[in-house]
Amino acid sequence: MAKLPVVRTRTVLRRTLAHIRARGETIALVPTMGALHRGHLVLVQLAKRRAKRVVVSIFVNPAQFAPHEDLSSYPRTLAADLAALAALKVDLVWAPSVAQMYPEGFATQIIPAGPATVGLEDTFRPHFFGGVATVVAKLFLQVAPDSAVFGQKDYQQLKVVTAMAKDLDIPVKIIGAPTVREKDGLALSSRNAYLSAAERAVAPTLYRVLKECAAHLIAGKSMAATLADGCAAIERAGFAVDYLEARHAETLVPIASVKNGPIRLLVAAKIGKTRLIDNIAV
Ligand code: AMP
Repeated sequence: MAKLPVVRTRTVLRRTLAHIRARGETIALVPTMGALHRGHLVLVQLAKRRAKRVVVSIFVNPAQFAPHEDLSSYPRTLAADLAALAALKVDLVWAPSVAQMYPEGFATQIIPAGPATVGLEDTFRPHFFGGVATVVAKLFLQVAPDSAVFGQKDYQQLKVVTAMAKDLDIPVKIIGAPTVREKDGLALSSRNAYLSAAERAVAPTLYRVLKECAAHLIAGKSMAATLADGCAAIERAGFAVDYLEARHAETLVPIASVKNGPIRLLVAAKIGKTRLIDNIAV
């Protein structure tokens, strides 16, 4: 098998991508924080159908973690990640160090608004979207991909990144990939590794409740009662709910009724020390 190039400096990245571009080949980028699971690999497969060459970035971005969050304990499984990406015949892995991404004196931040300030993840993780928008803008400028694939699992992030690329005139096509789930419905996430056996057993409640809420809304049950009952069911399973909300699927603004849709239902909840998010279309 051809060796998978793992690039660690901007200089080598630029040189390697210049060769690809000189041949007129298209590039799709899949940004990740590593600890790859089947959800990430589906994004890679989608990217392969979109472009001749696929670049996967692996970078645990300190800028999107608050001081009390899990930056130091975030799972890092580089050897297994590289083996999985080699098996999929990815063309290049961009795995910069923190010093490569944020050299001494780094001083410029992107502050996204619009979908980044609608009162969902941004309320509970005020650092998050500034860090995401900044690092993703840098990745887009470093790699200059024709397209980039993001998961709908992180639905608000997908909207923030799409708005950022459009607002900054970065010529990249953003592709949203459907959420990959375990058989019992739990959305795959690198953070699922934190769950104890007991927590893992109740974790599919989130998806089950989202589906129940969607069915109730379609059947005409009121928004307020649907969401209140959904929250109660999630809390009964042992979660502390950050939010369970129905939002406009494009703008993410609050929505009063199914008639004003399309609706996206979004949830974030903590079980033990682990915070999980999920969402579905109605
Ligand atoms: P992360 O490494 O968690 O930052 O995720 C990297 C990319 O993979 C993001 O675009 C995520 O939305 C996407 N992703 C993570 N989990 C899933 C999943 N279960 N299904 C689809 N995409 C996912």
